Amino acid sequence: MFCWLSRLYGGLSRPTRRTTQLIWGSFSRSLVLSSQRRIPELSSFVARTNTCGELRPSHLGQEVTLCGWIQYRRQNIFLVLRDFHGLVQVIIPQDESAASVKKILCEAPMESVVQVSGTVISRPPGQENPKMPTGEIEIKVKTAKLLNSCKKLPFEIKDFVKKTEALRLRYRYLDLRGVQMQYNLRLRSQMVMKMREYLCNLHGFVDIETPTLFKRTPGGAKEFVVPSREPGKFYSLPQSPQQFKQLLMIGGLDRYFQVARCYRDEGSRPDRQPEFTQIDIEMSFVEQTGIQSLIEGLLQYSWPSDKDPVVVPFPSMTFAEALASYGTDKPDIRFGMKIVDISDMFRNTEVGFLQDVLSKPQGTIKAICIPEGEKYLKRKDIESIRKFAADHFNQEVLPIFLKTNNWNSPVAKFIMEEQGLGLIRLLETQEEDVVLLTAGEHKKACSLLGKLRLECADLLEARGVVLRDPALFSFLWVVDFPLFFPKEENPKELETAHHPFTAPHPSDIHLLYTEPQKVRSQHYDLVLNGSEIGGGSIRIHDAELQHYILATVLKEDVKLLSHLLQALDYGAPPHGGIAIGLDRLVCLVTGAPSIRDVIAFPKSFQGHDLMSNAPDSIPPEELKPYHIQVSWPTDSETEKSSLNHPCHPES
Ligand code: ASP
Repeated sequence: MFCWLSRLYGGLSRPTRRTTQLIWGSFSRSLVLSSQRRIPELSSFVARTNTCGELRPSHLGQEVTLCGWIQYRRQNIFLVLRDFHGLVQVIIPQDESAASVKKILCEAPMESVVQVSGTVISRPPGQENPKMPTGEIEIKVKTAKLLNSCKKLPFEIKDFVKKTEALRLRYRYLDLRGVQMQYNLRLRSQMVMKMREYLCNLHGFVDIETPTLFKRTPGGAKEFVVPSREPGKFYSLPQSPQQFKQLLMIGGLDRYFQVARCYRDEGSRPDRQPEFTQIDIEMSFVEQTGIQSLIEGLLQYSWPSDKDPVVVPFPSMTFAEALASYGTDKPDIRFGMKIVDISDMFRNTEVGFLQDVLSKPQGTIKAICIPEGEKYLKRKDIESIRKFAADHFNQEVLPIFLKTNNWNSPVAKFIMEEQGLGLIRLLETQEEDVVLLTAGEHKKACSLLGKLRLECADLLEARGVVLRDPALFSFLWVVDFPLFFPKEENPKELETAHHPFTAPHPSDIHLLYTEPQKVRSQHYDLVLNGSEIGGGSIRIHDAELQHYILATVLKEDVKLLSHLLQALDYGAPPHGGIAIGLDRLVCLVTGAPSIRDVIAFPKSFQGHDLMSNAPDSIPPEELKPYHIQVSWPTDSETEKSSLNHPCHPES
């Protein structure tokens, strides 16, 4: 009966839908025991005496009352009852005198919710179920009450039953009954609890709520707008509590934190949600190293005890190094295949296109080495790699097969003859490796190879090579970001790399007035297994400097921030902070395939709540108090917008 229940805990280190089956009753107990000194009382104030998952031989002979959902019924004799804590087997009485109890328990449809009372007894010898934490006992039922019947379900409440995400989101309240969702949300709650404990009780932080009805902030993400009853006046939902947390420092609160809801109207991206949660932190009189140590301690303290412990301090890498070696500001350092600059080897090359590139000011030649690529990469993989490079980066990628030169490329062959030994030495290649070489401007070449590095890692892993240990949590600080990046649409203008309140690096301040694009910042990001899970900075606390950056460098409308500029002038202390993306963190910790799996009621890929159908329309008369009229798009505008946002199957 319980073949689907395979023991979780050996393999819990990183459960994924592919590899792990959770077991009712074991995870919630273990989470509870591991993280709290006192065992919480799970049945206080309610109609049950015990939870289904907690009963053991030590309860033998006890009269118990349980409430739960009917998970299985067999031969009208056995019934398995489930609550959040686990499963327990109930024996349906067969004698005439208990006919009414039998009728309730045999006629109630699956997933009906019932209350049963009876005695905890031993299972007969040989009938114990070692796969079930309560498998040594069963309940001899005396009375039963149907609390509520369940209609025909849209899907079975069993994790192994496949269902589309759209269906899961439409019936989220049923999806939440599953083991994996219960695990994810409970683990999330436990981690947040530990974080609060660490911040408030161990380090004196103050938990302060900040408004979600706010006003536009210049720069950054697109914001959601909320109409007000004053004609033409709107609130904006904050992208983060950034301004408030700085104002709290000016207000002398000294150490602030909040489990903060943030809103960004950024459209659909796989690891984003329009509303998401940050562990938001700010401290006065702190430097970058202080914030980093605080966060290392916070993660160590709140880390689930069924995972390998977090090792601190986390390694650190500059932005320039991350870009040069990994082609990204969020490197996955669990495996090698680093980008190597091989320009010097080709200074006297006779290969025309390489000569051309190197003659340009930013021209470089770079390569990555794919270990045993000859064995694992197929011809069609190489073709698609080259196509990707051409389509997305307008770049050539040259594959060099060290052993066989089986690509049959005269250029690759020539390069091998000319630079072969140098390549082998610089890239530390082995016989069966494949080198991917590209030539171009530094940043572009690095970004391309960074993408190909990850792509090839996925390909190798799909063919059975283990590159990234799934149990490993590899944290990394990325530091020394530039303060500004050139705007994509107009590279002569600058935008902030983090946000406009980030302080310049003390050693680069002089460049701010002459070559602002060269200024490094006091911005730091926290990366876990190649995903950015947090970011923060030391802030500008000088009003004049803040005004200069906003008005002169970024050309923003300073009026929008006059309150902050004014506040900085009233003795603002030096301060800094960080925000940790809670959804992404929990997603990585649980090994969930998407952040939607660690949020109780997430929005779909297109930002819809598929259960309630939000966002929804409002009749014109209800819009009147807001002085708003909908200007409906024409057919051609609708068509255009659906081309810009291709439909993702939601239903
Ligand atoms: N408010 C910033 C963000 O949401 C984090 C910070 O600088 O503390 O990215």
